[in-house]
Amino acid sequence: MTRRRKLLCTALLVCFAVCCVAAPADAWNSHGACTKLIISDQDWLKAYDSIPVTAWSYQDVDTQPVGPNFSVQYIEGPVGSTTTAAAILTNYADEPDWNMDAGLDLSTFQMLTGGSQGWRHQFYGLGFIRLGVAPSRAQYFYDLAGKAKAKGDLYWTFRYLARSMHYVQDCTEPYHSVPAPIGLILKGVTNFSLLLGSSTNHHYNLEEYQGAMVARNSPTFVDTLRNAAPLEITDDITPFWLCRHGTYLGRPVVRTLWPMETSFFGDNLNASDSWYFDLSTVHAAVPGTPQAAYDQVLSEPLGRMSSYTKTLLTLARQQLGL
Ligand SMILES: [Zn+2]
Repeated sequence: MTRRRKLLCTALLVCFAVCCVAAPADAWNSHGACTKLIISDQDWLKAYDSIPVTAWSYQDVDTQPVGPNFSVQYIEGPVGSTTTAAAILTNYADEPDWNMDAGLDLSTFQMLTGGSQGWRHQFYGLGFIRLGVAPSRAQYFYDLAGKAKAKGDLYWTFRYLARSMHYVQDCTEPYHSVPAPIGLILKGVTNFSLLLGSSTNHHYNLEEYQGAMVARNSPTFVDTLRNAAPLEITDDITPFWLCRHGTYLGRPVVRTLWPMETSFFGDNLNASDSWYFDLSTVHAAVPGTPQAAYDQVLSEPLGRMSSYTKTLLTLARQQLGL
C-alpha cells in the first residue's frame, strides 16, 4: 500500500470512527409492522396455518454467539401450542434487535459501527472500506432455515427465515449503508461532533418518521409496502446478495435524503446535540409539500425493503420446498 493510500485509509477510518461511534442499529420502524403489510399478498403462506411450536434444538449447527442478555421467547404460546407462518414472520421480524447481537466482542472494528449490534446489522461502505456483517447474518439464518426444513421443523424454518429477513430489511435502510453523504463525512473532519450529531439525527428521525407514517396508515408508505414486487429469481440471488445490493443502492439515496430531511424536519437536525422532530401533529403528506417530496424519495428504499423481503420468501419457497 502506498503512503498516500495509507493516509487516505486512515483518514477514512477516523471519519468513520467519529461518525459511527454512536450509530444506531435499529432500522425501519418496526420490522414487525412493516412485515405484516409486506406479506399481505403472499397467499402461499396461508397454507401454513397450523404449525406446532417446537423447542430450539439447533445447538450443534446454530453456533454463532448471542448476546449475554438474549433469551429465546415464545410469543404465540408455549412449546406444543400451534401458530401460523404469517404470525412467526411478523412476531420475530424484530428478534435480532432483542439483545441477540448486543454486548458481544466480534471484531476489532465493531466500535466503528457502534458496537456488536451495529456490526451485525449494518454494512457501511465508503470507498473501498466495508464495515459490518449484515449480509453474512442474513445468509447464516437462511441456511439454518434450510436445516430446520430438512428436519421437518416448520416452526424453526419460519423463525430462522424471520431472522434472515430482518438483516435483509436492515440493509435496505439507506443509513445502514453509509452514515452520511460522503462529501459531508470528508468535510466533517474539521468538526467531528457536528458530523456525529447530525448523522445520528438524520438516521433516527428518518426511522421515527417512517414508523409513525406506517402506524398512521399513510397511503404512500402502506401502498409501497403492500405492492412492491419481488425480483425475478436468478442464480445470483442469495440472502447475502440481497443485503449487499440493498446497501449498494441505498448509498446514493442518502445524498438525496439528507437535504430533504433538513428541509422537512428543519435545521435543528444538523446539530451536535440529539434532536427529534415533534411527530405528534404530523399526518399523511399533502401533495406538493416538502413532506410529500420526502415521502416520494423515501418510498424508493422502503419499496426495496418490501421487494427484497418478498424475494427472500420466494427464494425460500423454491429452494427449501415450502
Ligand atoms: Zn436490525
